[in-house]
Amino acid sequence: MNPYPMIPFEQARATILAHARPLPPVRTSIYDAPGLVLAQEVRAADPIPPFPASAMDGYAVRAAAGDAPRRVVATQWAGPAIAARVGPGQAVRITTGAPLPAGADAVLKVEDAQERDGVVTPSQPVRVGDHVRPVGEDVEAGEVVLTPGTVLGPAEINVLAAIGRDEVLAHPRPRVAVLSTGNELVEAGQPAAPGQIRDSNRPALMAAARQVGAHVLSLGIAGDDDQALAEGVARGLAQADVLITSGGVSMGERDLSRAAIEGHATVHFGQIAQKPGRPFVFATIQHPGAREQLVFGLPGFPAASLVTFENLVRPALRALAGHTRLLRPQVRARLAHAVDCTGQRVEFMRARIAWRDGGWWAEVTGLQTAGRVLSLVGANAFLRLEPGTSHYEPGDEVTAVRIDQPEE
Ligand code: AMP
Ligand code: MG
Repeated sequence: MNPYPMIPFEQARATILAHARPLPPVRTSIYDAPGLVLAQEVRAADPIPPFPASAMDGYAVRAAAGDAPRRVVATQWAGPAIAARVGPGQAVRITTGAPLPAGADAVLKVEDAQERDGVVTPSQPVRVGDHVRPVGEDVEAGEVVLTPGTVLGPAEINVLAAIGRDEVLAHPRPRVAVLSTGNELVEAGQPAAPGQIRDSNRPALMAAARQVGAHVLSLGIAGDDDQALAEGVARGLAQADVLITSGGVSMGERDLSRAAIEGHATVHFGQIAQKPGRPFVFATIQHPGAREQLVFGLPGFPAASLVTFENLVRPALRALAGHTRLLRPQVRARLAHAVDCTGQRVEFMRARIAWRDGGWWAEVTGLQTAGRVLSLVGANAFLRLEPGTSHYEPGDEVTAVRIDQPEE
């Protein structure tokens, strides 16, 4: 029998998150930074643009002479500044992004200019500042451009590069090792003899971990013997911040993963009042200093392993990566059909929700057994059915967790 008391889902998730602290920041190249969480405040040392720059192709001029013709005395391309100086009655041909030559205070854009025999004539008067990007228009010297906790995407990386930073302090990707357990398992590419099944959880959990931005390691398959399991667990803990196993944590005689985890780590709970995924082990190893490794013993049934990953492991991996938005958004949705559930444990039914006639409508994705991973294919929500109610009528409102939306 499972020796651990069954604890409520919310208590389980809160316990996990209490142990999931951001990994210490690491100096990281901006090329490796997409998706990482910034761990420092970033200030611009210099303004952008750093010099008054032309916003257009045209002519750098003094505005004072209005629409009078000017003699073209030089060309300033984008790039090194030439020594030219624009005097009254003069113009310097200029391209977008080029530094405005001394003496000029405006740019006459090429569309508003007629150049003939070295003389340019505006088709309308020029005003001071026309098509000139002043120093610091985009970013002022000393300005805080990024704050800690910012997720580094293309725009943030552009800002970093623009102010001259090719490295930043960011929380690293958690290293996650994934181990499958069971004598019945063979690799996906191998023929399955009678009694054998393909190890589908490992590639799926590796995909789920990679989707959260983790650095993922495969530990392969360990058979149901104490030594192989202990060896697999030890190998994972030697390389990773987080170890995920699947299988071997329920109540059968051969459920040895839990024992292997107990041999290395402190188990916080081993059973959750939820469906699917009642058998679920969470354990930690506290090292000197603040470092703590997390171990998740997921149930073996494929749908149960992925549902519990989504609800319990994913938020923890995000927390390790420094994210503060950890949970998916929820909406209220009406059931398109009647639903029966346990009424005893919180149940997460895989469903498809769609916006119709001013509200969300939910349709469950067929058979909801813990083994049927097709219940997740095409699902965009988990219907969260709380204990206390075991039957819902069509049109009843339930909570839907939007597993296709970013955390908030
Ligand atoms: P267990 O908790 O180890 O008894 O596993 C429960 C069910 O999940 C059994 O039917 C296993 O065959 C199945 N299972 C366990 N691990 C995997 C896996 N890695 N891939 C696919 N099915 C699995
Ligand atoms: Mg097993």
